Amino acid sequence: MSQKKATSTPAPPDARVTMDKIVSLCARRGFIFPSGDIYGGINGFWDYGPLGVELKNNLKAFWWQRVVRERDDVVGIDSAIITHPRTWDASGHTENFSDPMVDCRACKRRFRADQLEDAGRCDAREGSSEHDFTEPRNFNLMLQTQIGASADASLVAHLRPETCQPIFTDFKRVREVARQKVPFGIAQIGKAFRNEITPRNFTFRSREFEQAELEFFVHPSEREKWFEHWKAERMQFHLDLGFRKESLRSRPHAEDELAHYANAAEDVEFLFPFDWQEIEGIHDRGDWDLSRHTEYSGKDLSYSDPEARQSFTPMVIETSMGVDRTCLALLIGAYEEEDLGEGDVRSVLHLSPAVAPVKVAVLPLSKKLAEPARELERTLRRRWSCAYDESGNIGRRYRRQDEIGTPWCVTFDFDSQEDAKVTLRDRDSMQQERVAIEDLVPVLRERMERAG
Ligand code: ATP
Repeated sequence: MSQKKATSTPAPPDARVTMDKIVSLCARRGFIFPSGDIYGGINGFWDYGPLGVELKNNLKAFWWQRVVRERDDVVGIDSAIITHPRTWDASGHTENFSDPMVDCRACKRRFRADQLEDAGRCDAREGSSEHDFTEPRNFNLMLQTQIGASADASLVAHLRPETCQPIFTDFKRVREVARQKVPFGIAQIGKAFRNEITPRNFTFRSREFEQAELEFFVHPSEREKWFEHWKAERMQFHLDLGFRKESLRSRPHAEDELAHYANAAEDVEFLFPFDWQEIEGIHDRGDWDLSRHTEYSGKDLSYSDPEARQSFTPMVIETSMGVDRTCLALLIGAYEEEDLGEGDVRSVLHLSPAVAPVKVAVLPLSKKLAEPARELERTLRRRWSCAYDESGNIGRRYRRQDEIGTPWCVTFDFDSQEDAKVTLRDRDSMQQERVAIEDLVPVLRERMERAG
């Protein structure tokens, strides 16, 4: 929704990593592809295939581990996607969650008023290829649905446009059942829906997407301190995910960009092939949400501090990460076309083992070795996601794994039966070493832990 302003000259993105290459890799290897593709797809909706769902689940698990499980001051919830319609009146979405849009009277296509430079040519007018635009009108981005069989207007509801509002409406109950004292946080990962006028840049701007959000409730005197804390935490999180430092930056919002209730906001931006763009927002939302829900529900959402004997409405520091955008950024950041000389180019995804869809691939040198190789695969599969591949020459099989980001390949050869060792090949260095089969699990475990 917010308009982006560049604050510094972007470092040039690696020109070899284009969106076309990423989109094609994702479709070819089954990471992400258009939803309803056999019917021609549906704009702004995407399906994650076998590798994509592993990547996305790994990212969500990494986030949940860091933000929820490793902290004793954060708890999680999983709320309904359709919540009480009054929620969106209180949050301001019913009134304000809109983008200005214009229609072309000739071709009937709709565009965001601030993106008309991307509108292209009109193909429905005689004697002109210019669009015939209407005046801008506000278009609410919430997706509407009907609850129950009756067409009664009172049953109109909306799919949540962000995951955070149910955290506010559940605030009092969750704090009590979790026996938490302020400061503490409530986290949630889940689907959000926005009827974006111009979905684009692959999954970057979709109509259905996932968010991983934390609402951290603090005393008014501590809001700056916690804002700084979460800014640092979140940047470190992205670095630990394996992003290169130079592909990330923090961008504070300018005064005129801030939501009317926000005290401060800062985006974590990634250098996409099309520009620096937000993957996560960190916001000081003040007491706007809890105060509004108190006003609209008539339920007191203030907090009574038992030690200070003081009652106050907590301030909220929010961290809001787009799961799909971060997956896309991970793929772009990890992709490399490595020049190995003599015209040999290797496509490789340098994904961190923590998020790589497949952790280890077992490759028997010959189909005759399938039985012991399969047995080894079964042992590894109990611990990690594994691939098994026995077709084609071994070099080609390594390359297939490189292209999907598998950090390690284990080759079972004819010597393996004699010396009880296998060849362990590292994706990034391409180095190979012999490892005793009985040491394989501890060796892999140690390397995964070292990689983070
Ligand atoms: P933008 O300005 O790009 O529309 P926003 O400022 O409206 O984003 P927030 O409401 O702060 O975004 O949402 C938090 C996060 O959710 C964003 O950082 C982004 O990663 C993700 N997100 C928001 N809208 C979309 C979308 N249409 N498709 C995919 N991810 C999205």
